[in-house]
Amino acid sequence: MSFRSLQGAFTSLPSWNKVQSSGMKELHSRIDTLRRRLGNRLLILGHHYQRDEIIVHTDLQGDSFQLSAAAAKSSDCETIIFCGVHFMAETADILANSAENLARRNGRRINVLLPDPAAGCSMADMATRQTVERCWNELAAFIDTDDLAPITYVNSTAELKAFCGRHGGIACTSTNAEAVLKTALKEKRRVLFFPDQHLGRNTALKMGIAESELVLWDDTAAAGGNTAEQLRNSKIILWNGYCCVHQKFLPDHIDAIRQLYPGIRVIVHPECRRDVAEKADEAGSTSYILNRISESPSGSLWAAGTESRFVERLAKQNPDKTVVNLAMQPSYCEFMGLIDLPKLSAMVEAADTGVLTNVIRVEESVAADALLCLKRMLACQ
Ligand code: SF4
Repeated sequence: MSFRSLQGAFTSLPSWNKVQSSGMKELHSRIDTLRRRLGNRLLILGHHYQRDEIIVHTDLQGDSFQLSAAAAKSSDCETIIFCGVHFMAETADILANSAENLARRNGRRINVLLPDPAAGCSMADMATRQTVERCWNELAAFIDTDDLAPITYVNSTAELKAFCGRHGGIACTSTNAEAVLKTALKEKRRVLFFPDQHLGRNTALKMGIAESELVLWDDTAAAGGNTAEQLRNSKIILWNGYCCVHQKFLPDHIDAIRQLYPGIRVIVHPECRRDVAEKADEAGSTSYILNRISESPSGSLWAAGTESRFVERLAKQNPDKTVVNLAMQPSYCEFMGLIDLPKLSAMVEAADTGVLTNVIRVEESVAADALLCLKRMLACQ
């Protein structure tokens, strides 16, 4: 490109921005029109970590499981657009199209659409059916796997939920992890917890389980990198997975924010590292953080160690309080960020025409086993 044409490209930027913003306005109004036309036949779900431009079009916002469970109850809905990541859309499909719900709707399925099929989750991908099965088989050489309960965080693939379903295991959320661990440990001697080591460790330590009873399973090493004695003495075997968004927070961030805002309260997600969760004033799920900050008195000061789009929205929704990101450098979930207005608009158009794309459908036998472990979780509440 010549210097002159390069200069031209820069001088034309403001008008290009105008074109872009008028394009966005058109998309917003097109989505509004189609949503009015589709009424209750369409449900748009938005996870808290989605962009604002998506959240404005959602019928429900929440944590992943909360959204799927609420959507499954709908009787008029024909299509769910899940603005979240792949494992969330899978859970929505499993719950919305369970045998019980299908019977209630005379066999009519609800189609679950994911606006970008590439919206996965690096943590969910850290534990696959193959690697967990290999671990299970390897563990059998050291411990009695009949006395081992597999527990999967809902941030995992449907195949892993099905594995838990088949082995008497349970799913958990960051809200009910403690209740689920307690239930499992009443029935079994020990637990294999995947994929998030931090949620497992933070919850176990909070329950008073000794550090010596926690072991980390490294899938790339023999016996997960443990001795036979460590495995035999263990109560919780933690999978070596983590969330790249929450693992970025460090104890130094807490020191720095406390210096900058004396008296600030630090609240973090339990997917953060142990030293961060212990140094913070409190730790809890996304819904817990939302409620704690929203219900705190005017003038409160909060630093939140969780996904930054969510923290920035909390700051806007609570103008009478100071709400800041725990770290100077924002921590955005790139997978959630893949969903944007053009992609949402394409899904709403598809729901309107009936020519569906990006349908997430869990294979029937996997869905049936996965539902078992989700139901066991609901029984633990
Ligand atoms: S925030 Fe973490 S756990 Fe959630 S989708 Fe993103 S990478 Fe996965």
